[in-house]
Amino acid sequence: MAVSLDTSQMRAARATARPQPTPMAANAPAHTEAEEKPSLVSRSREELGNALMHIGVPEKQVRMRVAQLWHWIYVRGFTDFDRMTNVSKDLRQRLANTFTLARPELVTEQISNDGTRKWLLRFPSRGAGRPVEIETVYVPEEGRGTLCVSSQVGCTLTCTFCHTGTQTLVRNLTSEEIIAQIMVARDRLGDFPDAYTPQGAIVPNEGRMVSNVVMMGMGEPLYNFNEVKKALLIASDGEGLSLSKRRITLSTSGVVPMIARAGEEIGCMLAISLHAVRDELRNKLVPINKKYPLNELLDACRSYPGLSNAKRITFEYVMLKDVNDSLDDAKELVRLLKGMPAKINLIPFNPWPGSPYDCSEWEQIEIFADYVNRAGYASPIRTPRGRDISAACGQLKSESERLRRAEREKLEGISHGD
Ligand code: SF4
Repeated sequence: MAVSLDTSQMRAARATARPQPTPMAANAPAHTEAEEKPSLVSRSREELGNALMHIGVPEKQVRMRVAQLWHWIYVRGFTDFDRMTNVSKDLRQRLANTFTLARPELVTEQISNDGTRKWLLRFPSRGAGRPVEIETVYVPEEGRGTLCVSSQVGCTLTCTFCHTGTQTLVRNLTSEEIIAQIMVARDRLGDFPDAYTPQGAIVPNEGRMVSNVVMMGMGEPLYNFNEVKKALLIASDGEGLSLSKRRITLSTSGVVPMIARAGEEIGCMLAISLHAVRDELRNKLVPINKKYPLNELLDACRSYPGLSNAKRITFEYVMLKDVNDSLDDAKELVRLLKGMPAKINLIPFNPWPGSPYDCSEWEQIEIFADYVNRAGYASPIRTPRGRDISAACGQLKSESERLRRAEREKLEGISHGD
């Protein structure tokens, strides 16, 4: 699900409001999918070493060359082998002939009045029958900049409050495509050394522009575990993108058997898309609950590797009017979480076209928050961000499915003779 975070005052100047998508045709890749070169982005060091040996780098040089490439790719953000000054000209040429570091096609960039940015990225079909599109959202705050990253095109789950849930799964993203979302965001924000931040952009008042990553975009990350794991291990590699695992959060709707693995093998922070405190209601709001009910989910949370007060689990709770927002719900929530190091993010519902719910009254959200707070749990009310560009929590949806439907209807129109 998509993200919604605290609003706070920004030091940076306000960007000019530009809610209309800005077409990015100039960024369209020059090559077609058929002639696509393999990318070196998101390869492990071992895979990178094998790629280098494949183009004739002597084995005894491989380690050094891998370290050089790693630095240029992830620390400097280079996409052009020719700029890698400590690599011989001959090797730069061989790399460029065989591989690419190109970013994906950036279709549009939208900038909200509040500085939130949403990028629509297009990736090759890779088995989907046609190129696919996904959305990535950047939310700047005073002390941090959070990137909400997608893990799938569409989603197999059908959480009823979530716009992405109305888009059936088209395909999983590869680790390269997950890392690419971070790289594009850093490009667009000038978050690489020697790069410039666009004038007027709203960014954190200190530190890195992309300081936090949340796997809360389109898709269920634990249904694409291997690619998500590979990408997050690269994102947290101390010699590259170097994002602390404390600043990477994986959000799941509750794929219970994979939760412990996420903790052991990735070691990032965990968020749970909870939204209801009784199985009957959660079966409707988050239907995976029918498979993994609340007691199993909460047991898995209590056993999350490394769980402590310094590594609390975040529970996301969307506030739906007269559905899950009563004081009784708040009491039950506190009872369920008893003894668990946890924090609850209360998310005012962000409507989308055709959504079946209304947002709770503000007063009711405050009553709810107050109860949970007094029980000892931090329960910030997340101010919606980027609503004017449909970038807020639960609003993400790409055209990948709708395009297919439009095509199908067109074809049907032809066959029906209209
Ligand atoms: S909330 Fe997450 S898991 Fe549920 S439908 Fe939306 S994207 Fe999928």
